[in-house]
Amino acid sequence: MRYRSTRDIEAKEYVTAAEAIKRGLAPDGGLYLPEGTPELTAADIEKLCGMTYSQRAAYILSLFLDDYDKAGLKADCDGAYSEEKFPGGAAPVVDIGGGMYSLELWHGPTCAFKDMALQIMPRLLVRALRMTGEDKLAHILVATSGDTGKAALEGYRDVDGVKMTVFYPNDGVSKMQQRQMTTQEGNNVYVCAVEGNFDDAQTGVKKIFSDKALAEKALEKGFFFSSANSINWGRLVPQVVYYVSAYCDLAASEKIKIGDSVNVCVPTGNFGNIFAAYIAREMGLPIAHFICASNANNVLTDFINTGVYDRTREFYKTMSPSMDILISSNLERLLCRIGGEAVTKELMTALNTEGKYQAPEDMMAKIRAVFSGYCMSEEETAAALRKTFEERGYLADPHTTVGFGCAEKYRRDTGDNTPIILASTASPYKFSADVCRSLGLPVADEDDIEGILNTLSAATKTEIPAPLARTLTLPVRFTEVVAPAKMAEIPFRD
Ligand SMILES: *Cc1c(COP(=O)(O)O)cnc(C)c1O
Repeated sequence: MRYRSTRDIEAKEYVTAAEAIKRGLAPDGGLYLPEGTPELTAADIEKLCGMTYSQRAAYILSLFLDDYDKAGLKADCDGAYSEEKFPGGAAPVVDIGGGMYSLELWHGPTCAFKDMALQIMPRLLVRALRMTGEDKLAHILVATSGDTGKAALEGYRDVDGVKMTVFYPNDGVSKMQQRQMTTQEGNNVYVCAVEGNFDDAQTGVKKIFSDKALAEKALEKGFFFSSANSINWGRLVPQVVYYVSAYCDLAASEKIKIGDSVNVCVPTGNFGNIFAAYIAREMGLPIAHFICASNANNVLTDFINTGVYDRTREFYKTMSPSMDILISSNLERLLCRIGGEAVTKELMTALNTEGKYQAPEDMMAKIRAVFSGYCMSEEETAAALRKTFEERGYLADPHTTVGFGCAEKYRRDTGDNTPIILASTASPYKFSADVCRSLGLPVADEDDIEGILNTLSAATKTEIPAPLARTLTLPVRFTEVVAPAKMAEIPFRD
């Protein structure tokens, strides 16, 4: 299977999966996409139903990463999705009533869905370095709105041949997220706060990636830059797996029959998670419709409804910070899949120079045929969180709640009652202060993380996840804050 950049109009360069994973971003600034999509028939799905999560993952990864050794991929999946890393199973599906199924993707080491990809991606990268004969060190740069950073740090800590720097917006992450990152263990990792919001951090990282002089300077020092953000194909392809897995679980438990349609609702930020579901649909998984759920930063809702993507708007800090994003990088992949490289390049150039673009109407018609966009205000999210807990007995984090609320709006608007797989993206304990406030529980001191966790646990009779409890016992290692203009200096320090 060959990969090509979303901006490579003339089909100048095709690369292997290993090369795409090693590079992250394509040299022309585009994102890699596979040429075509491997097919998943009803018979394949039936076969997958009888497999463990790790077997399902190995099966699907080997279709996309066909230059990788199959036995090697199986070993990587076994390591990544082990009982030790994901106690009780990697991606359980919970029936929350009314034909809604919560696909809980947060049972890994950092309690957010990013673990699903970032536990395996380092293994894929190390193999890619070996397969491409690379002898230099990979320095991975990550811009994070909170969850990616910690998940990447856990995935890459003490991996040979790799170093990592994580940048997070100084005031844009929850106390727990910040604590998780600043206490990170491992000898090859560095964590740094950036003055500004997530887009400032992401723009800073993108600038480093596209700076040829910096790339040369790095090579002289014996390393090159790579990414772990969801712009990397190695992040996206493991995410395809859990949609297939959820479908299999629903079929195996006789909630649906193989061949039945489902809808998928994803609380969306960078558009990576929902795009992975779109790829699952391209493969042949019977997904009828996608609900793209946003918080008050509803740039995607507006895009789907109007065809205009406009990032020049007010930025809101919400209680679902991992979705506080104005530039949804992976939307570029959908544009390319639907409209081709030439249009994509044109629109991305407009986004870079003017901060907005208008997609052609024929493209929008195709997008709207499969995607609906909805958004939730802060007040709506708080009310929905409480209602979901009180009426369904289900405690969801604010991101998942945004998804849940948007799924309800979609049903109300359309009357479409197809079963919905809702991507549940984080443990409520990662955002416990806002969860407590939404439930009407007192939060006396925002900095008293432990007290808040205990309040939530006592009031809801649910358990504090072990990895979060452990974080509270670790010393803080990283305290630096930099201006965006200074970010590029950090990887060059000794
Ligand atoms: C990253 C994240 C999201 C958004 O996912 P994208 O792939 O960026 O769309 C949603 N919820 C949580 C908890 C996250 O960590």
